[in-house]
Amino acid sequence: SAAPANKLVQTTCPYCGVGCGVDVLQRGGMTGTLSELKGSTEHPANFGRLCIKGTHLLETLDGNKRLLQPVVFGQPASWDDAIGVIAAKMAAIIEQHGPDAVAIYGSGQLLTEDYYVANKLMKGFIGTANIDTNSRLCMSSAVVAHKRAFGEDIVPCNYEDLEHTDLLILTGSNAAWTHPVLYQRIERAKLRNPDMKVVVVDPRKTDSTAIADLHIALKPGTDAVLFCGLLNFLANNNALDEAFIAASTHGFAETLAAAFEWPMARVAEVCDVAEAELVTLFNWFATLPRAITFFSMGINQSTSGVDKGNAIINCHLATGKIGKEGSGPFSITGQPNAMGGREVGGLSNMLAAHMDIDNPAHHATVKQFWNAPNLITKPGLRAVDMFQAAADGKVKCIWIMATNPVASMPNRALVEAALKQCELVIVSDTAAQTDTLNYAHIALPATGWSEKNGTVTNSERRISRQRGLVAPMGEAKHDWEILSLVGQALGFEDAFNYAHPAEIFAEHCALTAANNNGSRALDLGPLADLSVAQYDNLRPQQWPLNETHRIGTERLFADGSFYTPNRKANFVAITPRLATQQTSAEYPFVLNTGRIRDQWHTMTRTGNAPRLLKHIDRPWLSVHPLDAQALAVKDGDLLKAEAACSGEVEVILPVKIDDKQRRGEVFAPFHWSATWGSHAKVGALLNGANDALSGQPELKHGAIRLSPV
Ligand code: SF4
Repeated sequence: SAAPANKLVQTTCPYCGVGCGVDVLQRGGMTGTLSELKGSTEHPANFGRLCIKGTHLLETLDGNKRLLQPVVFGQPASWDDAIGVIAAKMAAIIEQHGPDAVAIYGSGQLLTEDYYVANKLMKGFIGTANIDTNSRLCMSSAVVAHKRAFGEDIVPCNYEDLEHTDLLILTGSNAAWTHPVLYQRIERAKLRNPDMKVVVVDPRKTDSTAIADLHIALKPGTDAVLFCGLLNFLANNNALDEAFIAASTHGFAETLAAAFEWPMARVAEVCDVAEAELVTLFNWFATLPRAITFFSMGINQSTSGVDKGNAIINCHLATGKIGKEGSGPFSITGQPNAMGGREVGGLSNMLAAHMDIDNPAHHATVKQFWNAPNLITKPGLRAVDMFQAAADGKVKCIWIMATNPVASMPNRALVEAALKQCELVIVSDTAAQTDTLNYAHIALPATGWSEKNGTVTNSERRISRQRGLVAPMGEAKHDWEILSLVGQALGFEDAFNYAHPAEIFAEHCALTAANNNGSRALDLGPLADLSVAQYDNLRPQQWPLNETHRIGTERLFADGSFYTPNRKANFVAITPRLATQQTSAEYPFVLNTGRIRDQWHTMTRTGNAPRLLKHIDRPWLSVHPLDAQALAVKDGDLLKAEAACSGEVEVILPVKIDDKQRRGEVFAPFHWSATWGSHAKVGALLNGANDALSGQPELKHGAIRLSPV
C-alpha cells in the first residue's frame, strides 16, 4: 500500500508556561520521521514565534539517551512483570502500613490526562492524597494567593493584555530567559507604544532589564514590603477606585491599616533602594490607566510567597486594575502544564476540577462521579514533607514521574536519604540516566514529547493539544497508560479501563461541569462529549467554556464578580516577612538560583542538543567583584559552596565575576547535576524551608559560605 502522505501537524512546545504552538512536518506517518519544525502562526500564544529551546526540539530526541525497557531490580524486564511486581509490592505496603505509606511525586511536564489518572488512582482508589508534583516548586504560592483573593485559582489576564497596557511591572521574573516569547511580545508592544512603561523589580540585573524604563534592584526577599508601600502610597495619593472597592471587594480597611505601616522612607530603607525610584514606580501605578504585574518564581519560591502574591493582588484590587484589558496581576507559570495539573487536582491539597477536599458537597460530587471506594478526606504530603516522611520511614513506596528530584529539589541530602530509606522507589522517565534513576528499584520507560498525546494548559488558561507525532521509542508507554495498568492490577479494572486519552479528557471535562452551576470558573462542559476525531482536532482555547462562554473566555472578572461565596474579591492584610535562610557570620552570602536561557530543568532533554550548549555550556557562580577580591579568586577559579544543610554533598562552582548582583549576593543556575559530571549540585545548598500556606520552598534565598578550592 502507498506510504502515508507527509503532513504538517500542530503540537505544543513541552517546556515553559508560555505554551507555544509548534508545527512539525510528519513524514511517513507515525513510524516515519519529523522535520521542518516551526512556530505555529495560528497559535495565539506565539503567532509563529519560538525561542531557541523550542526551535531545537527535534535535536533533543536522541534515542541513545532514552530509557527503552522496564528495569526491575537492576534487570531488564517485561511490562507484565514490572506491573506485576509494582502492584504486588504496593498492595503489600498498603496492607501493612495503610495507603499513606504510598506516594507519587509527579511533574508539570505530565499532560493533563496523565495527571488526571494519577490523581484519580491515588485520591479515589488507593485512598491517599500523597500525590504532589514539582509544580509545588513552581506556582503553588500563586495558587493559594489566587484562592484567598478570588475564591478560586484563577489567572484573570491573557497574553494580549501585555500589548494593551500602560505599565508593565516584571517582578521576580527574568522573562527574557525564562519566557522568551512573551518577553519578545513585550518588547514589540513597547516599540509600538514608546509611552508604555516597563519596570523590572529584581535584585539582579538580567537580560530582562534591557527594556526597562526603571530597574529597582531591591534587597532579596523584600517584594511584599514594596507592594505594601505601593498600597499605602495609592491611598495617600487619591488613587483608589472607591466604587470598585465598595461594590466588588471585601476586607479593605484591615488591609490598608496594615499597609499604613509602610511609609515611603521605611520601604526604601528595608528594600534598600532609592526613594526616588519608588516614587517613580508608585506614581506610574497611581496615574497610568492600565497596569499589569507579571510575577513568577522570584515571588513564588519564598517562605512568604503567598503573602507576596496577595500584596500584589491587593494593589490591583484597590485601583480596579483587574478584569479590564491591559490590567491585572498575571502569574506566569514555569512549566508547560502547571496549570493543567491544577485543573485536575494535581497537588496534595486539592481534590479535582478545582474542588476542595474539605467541602462536603465537592467531596460528594467527586465520590459519586468516580464511584470511588476510598475517596480521601484529608490533604496529603507536600513535596518537601513527602521526602521528609520517606526519610522518616513513614512513606515506604514512592513513584517519581517525569521529574528528577535528586537534582531539582532543595536539600539534596534529605532527598537522597529518603530514597535510600524507601522499600520501593519507582521512577518513570524518558531518560536512561538521571541523578534520581540511581535510586530506582524499578525504572519505567515513559513516552516523551513527539510521542505523547494529550492536552496542556498554559499561563493564560489556554488548553492546547500536544499531539503524538511518532510511535513510542522502544517499549516506552504513556504515563496515563502505565498508571491505568497499575490501577487495574490493583483490582480497579473498571475505573482505569482507558483506551485513548480522549476518553480521559472527556471524563475530566464532565467532572468540571458536575454540580457546577457557575459556582466554579473552571468549566469545560462543552468539551465533555468530544469524539476522538474532535479531540484530535481540538484547537487552542481558554477556559471557562460553558453555556455563556461557548468559545472560551479571554479575561475573567470583567463584570466585577469573583468566585467567593459572596462574589466579592478578598483583600488580604499583609505583614511582610523576610526570608528564613538568613545570612550569618558563618554563612555570609545570600544564594539566588534560577534558569538560563537555553536549558530546561535538569537538562535531560535540552542537554542532548549541542546547539543549546553553545550559549552557556557549564555551570557557574556569579560573584560581585569586591566579593571576588575578598575571596582572592579570579574568573574561572573554583569555589566550594557550603550551607548548614549541605552535609556530605560537595558543591563546587567556577567563579564568574560580574556586578549584576549586589555585594554579598551570589547567583547560580540550577540545571547541572551529577549526571553531567558536575559538582554544581546547587539544590544541596537550600534547606527546603517552605511557605506554611503553600508548601513552596524558598529557592531564591539561601545562606552559604564560600572558600577557594
Ligand atoms: Fe517553548 Fe517557552 Fe520557548 Fe515558547 S517560549 S518555544 S513554550 S520554551
